[in-house]
Amino acid sequence: MKTFGFAAQSNTTPLAPFEFERRDLRANDVAMEILYCGVCHSDLHQSRNDWGFATYPLVPGHEIVGRVTAVGSDVSRYKVGDAVAVGCMVDSCLECDQCRKGREQLCRKGMTQTYADKDRITCEPTYGGYSKHLVCREEFVLKVPDGLDIAKAAPLLCAGITTYSPLRTWGVEAGNRVGVVGLGGLGHMAVKLAAAMGAEVTVLSRTKDKEADALALGATRLLVSSDPEAMMAAGSSFDLIIDTVPVKHDINPYLPLLDIDATLVLVGQLGLLDEPSTLPLLFGRRRIAASPIGGIAETQEMLDFCAAKGVLPEVEMIRMDEINHAFERMERADVRYRFVIDMATLAGA
Ligand SMILES: [Zn+2]
Ligand SMILES: [Zn+2]
Repeated sequence: MKTFGFAAQSNTTPLAPFEFERRDLRANDVAMEILYCGVCHSDLHQSRNDWGFATYPLVPGHEIVGRVTAVGSDVSRYKVGDAVAVGCMVDSCLECDQCRKGREQLCRKGMTQTYADKDRITCEPTYGGYSKHLVCREEFVLKVPDGLDIAKAAPLLCAGITTYSPLRTWGVEAGNRVGVVGLGGLGHMAVKLAAAMGAEVTVLSRTKDKEADALALGATRLLVSSDPEAMMAAGSSFDLIIDTVPVKHDINPYLPLLDIDATLVLVGQLGLLDEPSTLPLLFGRRRIAASPIGGIAETQEMLDFCAAKGVLPEVEMIRMDEINHAFERMERADVRYRFVIDMATLAGA
């Protein structure tokens, strides 16, 4: 199938129109027209090869919502016209212990990423959601529940599940005390999701500037991390801290805030951190962890949870040809809180 999208041709070129082929439907494949695609920090980093494993041409996009246009002969869960979604992975081995537990994101043989990766059968490059059409095996397609606004749902597929999964992994429930560091695409979802689970949510920020936003998103308070007295008073008072900051930073101020046996989980930064001290870890048996997206069943559970609780990302809709400007704004943290591309603006090539 001929299709088109926007691609980076190298780590120094802006995204520009690109024509390419989607594979013919296999028996277990679902084809969809993409209606909306969220803009993740990973898209920016990968387009510029900041992590060193990009492949070009690179069509970013792994927060994908669309409508089914065709299904393979063995597909049973979806039919033409269904509202569906695809997140950060499009395949895994489905045979290893992790896949069998529904943790495809931790597949022993490695999951197949939605873009900048290789198809497991043909080794063709995978291209993401900044495009008109997508073909994906049925097992990695999600149902968009009735009642979830499809124009806003796209960021749930990465920002949503990336913050939902640690909340579930560390068993957050009503009354738990959750801290959120960084109030961007991921952070604002962490606040909304934790609040919807009944947790008492605190946003940690260097200044008071974001206090009104934090409260509006569902946080109980904002703790100013540059205020030593306030930080001291908050010692040992969190059950879980989700750190969504996507760049190298210092986590030492947050560690003493964890209660005994509590965890700080990193979901934003890939790579180095400033040196963490083991002192607060050792004396409070506190933990540092990190977590990538979530499994397919957990992602569906998150979508269903959001539909039931009325949780939706705050989005700013953009045209496809505004993407390079959107990347620049994202680098300045000038977005509240996630850009979503309206794919109807991707003109035919
Ligand atoms: Zn992402
Ligand atoms: Zn596997």
